[in-house]
Amino acid sequence: MGWTTRGTGRNYDSLTGSAALVGFFTKKVLTYISKNRKCRKCDRGHDSSDHDCRLNFEGSAKAMESAAAAHLATQNSIFDTCHVQLGIMIGDNDSSAIGSVRAASHHEVIKHSDKNHTSKGVVNELYKIKKNHKELTAGAIKYLQHCFNYCVAQNIGDPVEMGKGIRNIPSHCFNNHDNCGTWCGYHANPESYRHSAIGDGFVSEQLFDALRCIFDVVASRADRFAGVSSNVNESLNATIASKAPKMRFYGSTASSDARLACAINKKNSGEQYVHKMAEKLSLSPAKYTETYGLKVDLNASKRYLRSCSQEFKKRRLFLKAKKTDLQHKKERSEGSQTY
Ligand SMILES: [Zn+2]
Ligand SMILES: [Zn+2]
Repeated sequence: MGWTTRGTGRNYDSLTGSAALVGFFTKKVLTYISKNRKCRKCDRGHDSSDHDCRLNFEGSAKAMESAAAAHLATQNSIFDTCHVQLGIMIGDNDSSAIGSVRAASHHEVIKHSDKNHTSKGVVNELYKIKKNHKELTAGAIKYLQHCFNYCVAQNIGDPVEMGKGIRNIPSHCFNNHDNCGTWCGYHANPESYRHSAIGDGFVSEQLFDALRCIFDVVASRADRFAGVSSNVNESLNATIASKAPKMRFYGSTASSDARLACAINKKNSGEQYVHKMAEKLSLSPAKYTETYGLKVDLNASKRYLRSCSQEFKKRRLFLKAKKTDLQHKKERSEGSQTY
C-alpha cells in the first residue's frame, strides 16, 4: 500500500492511497487500485455524474489498506479471466491486510513474511533484550542480523534447513561450531578464527538462553518466510512518488489516477511505455521518444545488474560503515546539539 502523504501508513490521514499486487516470479504489477477520499468538484457542489469523479472511498484512511487488499484479492477481473486465485500473500507484519483478504475469500489464503520485515522483526526483539545484556551491543545485534539474513538467503525454498540454521545462530556466536555449515570460517581456521563483529564470541549464559528463546521461535516459523525481499514494493512506491510527488496533492482530481497508471506502466514496461501508449492512442510519438526510452531502460538494467554484484554490495556496506563512523566522530567533536 502506498500513501500520498509523507510519513508512514501509521499516520492514517492520507486522502488518497494506492495498493498493488506484485507477482512473486515476474516481479511485475498484476493489478492495482487507488482509493480516493476527496473530490474537488463534488466538494464544490457538482453532481458526480457531470465530471470524471474519482471519489471511491468514504471510510477512514486506516480502513483504506484492508479495503484495497480485499478488493484486489477477491474482486479482480484479471484473476477471474485467467481462472486464478490468490493463494499465498507475501507482505509485511501488519495483519490488517491479510485479515481482510481472508475474511473476503472463500478459500484459505496463506500469509508469508518478506525478508526485510522478518529481519527487522528479529532486530526489534534483540533490541528489547539489549538493556539486560552488556555483551549485546548495537554492533553485536548487527552481526546477529547479518547471520540471520545470510541463513535465510542461503536456504530459500528449504524451510527445514533454514530452521536448523536459524536455531544454530546462538551456538555459533557462543563458539560451538559443531552444527555450522561450510560457511562458518571456524572450520577453515580453528586456531585463529574470530567473529567479525563480536571477536571471541559471547560468554554470558543468560544471553545464550535469551538468544535461544528468540531464535527458536523465529526458526519454528521458517516455513512462513518467503525469502523474498520487499525491494520491489519500495521501488514501485518510489516510481509512484516520482510521478506524483508527495509534496503536491493530486488526489482530488483524475490527475492522481493518471499519474498512478503511468507509474505502473513504467514499472511493468520500462520507459518505453510512453512510446507504446502514444501508439495505442494513435498519437505520433516524437522523434526521440523511442530512442530515449530504450536508452533509459538500458541504463536501468545496467544499474540493476551492477547493484546485484558482490563487489557493489561490499562497497555499499563499506561506504555505509565509513559514513556512520564519520558521523560518530563529528558528533563526538561537535558535541550533541539540542535545539
Ligand atoms: Zn466528484
Ligand atoms: Zn560457526
